[in-house]
Amino acid sequence: MEVYGIKMIRKPDIERIMGKTVTLYEESVTNLGECILALVRSGDTKHLIAKGSGPLVDKLEGEVKDDLKICPANHANRLVLNAYLPYTKPTTNKDGRPSIGLGDRLGQATPGHIKALGDKNIFPYFAQQSIRELNLTGRTFDGVIDDAAYAVFQCGYTAGWGADGDHLKKEEEVKAALQCGATMITLDSSEMIDNTIAGLNEKELLVRYEQVDEKTRSFYEDLYKERTFTFGKLNLTLDTVSLMKDILIYGKALDYIQKIWETFPAFKADESFLEVSVDETATPTDPKSHLFIALELKRRGVHLKTLAPRFAGEFQKGIDYIGDLKQFEQELIIHETIALAHDYRLSVHSGSDKFSIFPLLAKHIGRPFHVKTAGTNWLEAMHVVALTDPSLYRRMHAHALARFKAATAFYVVTTDLSKIKPLDKVSDEQLGDYLKDDNARQLLHITYGYLLQDKDEQGAYLFRDEFFALLAEEEELYRDLLAKHIGKHFELLGWKK
Ligand code: ZN
Repeated sequence: MEVYGIKMIRKPDIERIMGKTVTLYEESVTNLGECILALVRSGDTKHLIAKGSGPLVDKLEGEVKDDLKICPANHANRLVLNAYLPYTKPTTNKDGRPSIGLGDRLGQATPGHIKALGDKNIFPYFAQQSIRELNLTGRTFDGVIDDAAYAVFQCGYTAGWGADGDHLKKEEEVKAALQCGATMITLDSSEMIDNTIAGLNEKELLVRYEQVDEKTRSFYEDLYKERTFTFGKLNLTLDTVSLMKDILIYGKALDYIQKIWETFPAFKADESFLEVSVDETATPTDPKSHLFIALELKRRGVHLKTLAPRFAGEFQKGIDYIGDLKQFEQELIIHETIALAHDYRLSVHSGSDKFSIFPLLAKHIGRPFHVKTAGTNWLEAMHVVALTDPSLYRRMHAHALARFKAATAFYVVTTDLSKIKPLDKVSDEQLGDYLKDDNARQLLHITYGYLLQDKDEQGAYLFRDEFFALLAEEEELYRDLLAKHIGKHFELLGWKK
């Protein structure tokens, strides 16, 4: 058997054989004895390069040229990589590290995330997309995991990472995500949550409550009515009114969560971690409701790993927390007490840029927890555009303004477009300042689907091709901006080591 040295896969040879200039990702060069593998990029296309022999090389799809096999960075080849290099495959957060969802809508952000992680003891979910995001970006679960896996290989990142099927609502979605290898499922039961109850007065509430069948009512009442639960210094009583409300608001959602838990053995087997999210509701999650949910899930034998309540205040996309920090802090302490007592962790959604609450999370949660970020990666990509291609930025910004109204159908924001400085009053050198302005951030944030997918009359993308070509060319700047921005999240979360 011929053993290849690390130096044996050389950029000039690859360029000669491929007939074009390439970027060779040095950290990807992996010597497996009988073969050597590496990842290269030319333009915005990546290729796996294999040299040598053996079953791995045989299984890769690709074209043999000279002594190299040039393989597309496609789904089939990702599965081959997974089989031979287990660190390229998503896994669960087995050792219970603090964890972060880093949803990367573009499939380009993972190298920046890896740089931000350094050697910190954090478990990253590099792949994390909701169905809404997949639809708005025209991607698939497989594609999202492929992109993350190739980035992991590109950077030689071996510390383990996860894939989260985010905000899944339907059983088929859970099934599909698990089949693609999702190691976390965020089950969003918001369609089963009754949002019409919170605003009712006591009389109206009673009318609705009496429509619940007698057996169900007395079952819950025997278990919980006017019972006080004590956790250290905290006493919570499920008084009659809150119990009636919780049964009406969450009853169907609890049945559904139990059904999903029982349908997919992957959860019980710890092959995938179940998160329950009740954050997309009309009102913040009352701590008593959280307790009711926790008690019920326990009674039903559902072992969730994380729960995302809707915290008080507003968690709008891409900007800092809006709300009463004192109230947030008080409720956080109660939510964490309930979560701890029921053996799961808190999950904080829409965590991008929520810098003012991170120190409170660090202070009051004396153990690992989960935070999700997503859109901030897209905004840093727009930051790259603003800094390196003023013409493209101006066109995208103008299009975002034109599409803003349509985009508000998908996202709740309080953006004031009139406060955004007009483009013709801003010099090219100042375009980057838009990313420091909350209104402009939200404008760019919620219109990403249109900016990436809209086409002209001839059917050509307005920006997509130009945008991705620029991002590939400026990959180091993008990586550095992301590392700095995500690094600030880690620092304020107290995740230093
Ligand atoms: Zn959420």
